[in-house]
Amino acid sequence: MKEIRTRFAPSPTGFLHIGGLRTALYSYAFAKNKKGSFILRIEDTDRSRYVPGATEKVYEILKIFGLSWDEGPLVNGPFAPYVQSERVKTGVYQKYAEKLVNEGHAYYCFCPAKAKEEIEETHRRKIVELRDPCRNLSLSQAREKINSGQKPAIRLRVPENETISYRDFVVGKEISWNSKDIDEVMLLKSDGFPTYHLGVVVDDTEMKITHILRGHDWLPSTPVHLLLYKYFEAALPEIGHLTDILDPQGGKLSKRKGSVACEEFLADGYLPEAILNFIMLLGWAPKDNRELFTLEEFVKLFDKGDLQTANPIFNREKLDWFNGMYIRKTEDAKLTTQIFQFFGGKHTQDRIEKILPLVKDRMVKFSDFEILAAPLLGACPAIDKNCLPSVKKEHLEKTILVLDNLSSWELTQINEKLAALIKESGWKTGDFYMSLRVAVCGCKVTPPINESLVVLGKKETLFRLNRALKTI
Ligand code: GLU
Repeated sequence: MKEIRTRFAPSPTGFLHIGGLRTALYSYAFAKNKKGSFILRIEDTDRSRYVPGATEKVYEILKIFGLSWDEGPLVNGPFAPYVQSERVKTGVYQKYAEKLVNEGHAYYCFCPAKAKEEIEETHRRKIVELRDPCRNLSLSQAREKINSGQKPAIRLRVPENETISYRDFVVGKEISWNSKDIDEVMLLKSDGFPTYHLGVVVDDTEMKITHILRGHDWLPSTPVHLLLYKYFEAALPEIGHLTDILDPQGGKLSKRKGSVACEEFLADGYLPEAILNFIMLLGWAPKDNRELFTLEEFVKLFDKGDLQTANPIFNREKLDWFNGMYIRKTEDAKLTTQIFQFFGGKHTQDRIEKILPLVKDRMVKFSDFEILAAPLLGACPAIDKNCLPSVKKEHLEKTILVLDNLSSWELTQINEKLAALIKESGWKTGDFYMSLRVAVCGCKVTPPINESLVVLGKKETLFRLNRALKTI
């Protein structure tokens, strides 16, 4: 059977969108499920939109999520180079574009940049009947201009009155266009760089890609690609366009409505495994109602036949739920290191390790650690004046005496002695502990208080209680 080869082909024009990560994940899983190869290719020929550093960020992010590529930058492979700006130097795009010109499927275009922009604009406004005047130049007229030193671009010649169609393996339907609605797009720019259309088809052909999975945004480009495959006499890969990811407030998921970049989610303290698990289910569902999957488990189950056609909603609460689940599934030792790294070494590993069991159950993201553990992390926190009325002098005075006389600073001892003190004094347990919380932590919402005293240590606890006594 023919080897399955999929690819992820991002353009380094900014951050990697969470939707891009989903495309990469599905392409990876589809290839791996069929023991095929997953290829990474960088499509960086639009130099005006190129963002320095974005390519390296793609490598970093894919590695963080465990989506390792079998061929591509850094690992190479039989079709290297895998970065389009490097491939330009091999002359491959020029070769394919000239074949089209020679066979009448493309033409040289000499229009100055301004005129080109106007033509593109008419395309955008869908007045595609307005074709470029250069399409009427004969090949010999065009060659004369080239010989006199003019540098042409190359534009696709769209046939008249043809129906162009293919079956989309995600949409599950035949999709077709009439050629009159197809732009005569630019294929090769006068500087020798291919546009996206030429680059993507040449490279998918050369790299023997069998299945293309990509975002829905690219569907309008597909008829152009179909024509190119036909004119190159190249095998047409199976093509599938993934659904749009919707924002719960409506419309497509967009930056204006919250984080959309993978790096932002990581910086906010989401675990890569949780993000990955969450996006697995944005367009795919297993046969049962199971929700938790490792990448390996997902790969085993993933089949293109299970891809959904309804646009999924990016439910942030669901992502939080996944993250909390993953935090609780992670061993304390590993989590301690992750939190230590997340805060750039701001809190010692030892302190994190001690506090973690007190806050782990309530943590949704790594960043929550600092919020939930705040009273135990820094110096003695000031007492919130709105909470002061909850602190009773009598509670504190007697507690100081009891705690000061403890033979060892252990949770069982603290629990027992404080329970006995509450009983013999006839206090209400809730009132007493509210007093203690506010006195020690400065506020009413704290990690479990007796456990917090253990973490703080005897000296700091007594210091805080005495300070509170002076404050009230
Ligand atoms: N370079 C395109 C992008 O940035 C790739 C689209 C495709 O997969 O064909 O998403």
